[in-house]
Amino acid sequence: MNNEMKALVKAHAREGLWLQIEPVPDTGPDDVLIRINKTGICGTDIHIWNWDKWAKKTVPLPLITGHEFAGEIVELGRNVEGLKLGQRCSGEGHLIGKKSRQSRAGKFHLDPETRGIGVNEQGAFAEYLRLPAFNVVALPDEISDDIGAILDPLGNAVHTALSFDLVGEDVLITGAGPIGIMAAAVARHAGARNVVITDINQDRLDLATKVSDITPVNVTKDELADVQARLNITQGFDVGLEMSGNEIALDQMIESMVMGGRIALLGIPPCKKPIDWSRIVFKAITLKGIYGREIFETWYKMIAMLQNGLNVSNIITHHFNFGDFKHGFEAMKAGSAGKVILDWT
Ligand SMILES: [Zn+2]
Repeated sequence: MNNEMKALVKAHAREGLWLQIEPVPDTGPDDVLIRINKTGICGTDIHIWNWDKWAKKTVPLPLITGHEFAGEIVELGRNVEGLKLGQRCSGEGHLIGKKSRQSRAGKFHLDPETRGIGVNEQGAFAEYLRLPAFNVVALPDEISDDIGAILDPLGNAVHTALSFDLVGEDVLITGAGPIGIMAAAVARHAGARNVVITDINQDRLDLATKVSDITPVNVTKDELADVQARLNITQGFDVGLEMSGNEIALDQMIESMVMGGRIALLGIPPCKKPIDWSRIVFKAITLKGIYGREIFETWYKMIAMLQNGLNVSNIITHHFNFGDFKHGFEAMKAGSAGKVILDWT
């Protein structure tokens, strides 16, 4: 291996990413070096590309971006045990601290000192990624590199969908982005009776029907209440998964829930907006905020479900060579893509 690699770098404080030659990272004693095969483009990467307000205050320059990846281990730090060269893997992109109360209690996903690869630390849009061995998740043979590269967002979907018992329940998902669509597939797999997914983008709703057996509702054309009646959901939805960050969607969800309904929130609202708290109180609704994935319980469950019939492969709508990354970002920005994969092999 020579010690240079190609990488997609946020090199300048303006719109775009730049394909550059960068040094291959050094592998510390507790790290592995991963040869990247495939990466997924995330909404987060679009924020970084656009250099919006959030990106400006969060991302240090210059930074290799990207956090959704699959690859194989090509170097092991001297303290690393239980992993081997050539092992195919993905990995948790949240690098946790060891000092907080949450970490010491084993609730790694709640560690306030978490730093994200491709956001705060050097990322995975590159030929090589250094990662703490702790964060590596081995891939079984039956999980392809394409699916390996979307386990990070699938993990968000799994973490959100499995927040509440879904068996036999009627589930409403607001927002048919890739995570909403994958959460719908997880909810069906986990035994929900009906899964209804709302959006205002017909392309995304059509894509949702290609991934799993759900009921799409375009709220610009159809009344959710009519669909509910047709499906014989008499008292409202039992479980809500809010994936849009849209205030109107959340409002409609709260309106459509059963008494005592449970809502998991992954979508991020753009600003502080009041919601009608009296309805939360009078309907006795439980709200749960979702951040990231449970480390590593979500990873375990998601791989187990993929090995037992969960199929989300149709969520991948585009493949590009990493050199064509601009086309990949364009496809993402057009708003109708599912997951977009960049190939680094
Ligand atoms: Zn992501």
